[in-house]
Amino acid sequence: MEKTLVLIKPDAFGKNHAGDILKIYEDAGFKIIAAKVMRMTAELAAKHYVEHIGRPYYPALVEFMTSAPIMALVLSGDDVIKKVRELNGATNPAEAAEGTVRKLYAADKTKNAVHASDSEASAAREIPIFFSACEIFD
Ligand code: ADP
Ligand code: MG
Repeated sequence: MEKTLVLIKPDAFGKNHAGDILKIYEDAGFKIIAAKVMRMTAELAAKHYVEHIGRPYYPALVEFMTSAPIMALVLSGDDVIKKVRELNGATNPAEAAEGTVRKLYAADKTKNAVHASDSEASAAREIPIFFSACEIFD
């Protein structure tokens, strides 16, 4: 079954929206096969967001992502990578469609509530950054 990495970011987790967001994914039929609450260190952020190093927003992104707990998840299901990104909505919450996670719970382009892998290659790269094999029930 296809897998994707999701991060509930410090803004949404801190506002107690983890349950609301998990419900959106579960109601869409996806299975939670790994989950943990954790702090993202600067080292972890540099690994996860490697392709964004050097962009103007990168320092603010790392400061935000390391500021408070996040919830890391692996979700599985049919076409889960594409469908979870649709459920999450556009990166900029001002452009996110009605009913999406980012429209409901995100404040701005940095504090945008959730991350989800954007391709099979990204999911395969990102999942082992956060979870060891024995933490994933697949
Ligand atoms: P997505 O999370 O939708 O896949 P990107 O991979 O383009 O978006 O960017 C990764 C993260 O970096 C975004 O979720 C957001 O938190 C931050 N980010 C991206 N672009 C900007 C921007 N122009 N201004 C501020 N933050 C940004
Ligand atoms: Mg991305």
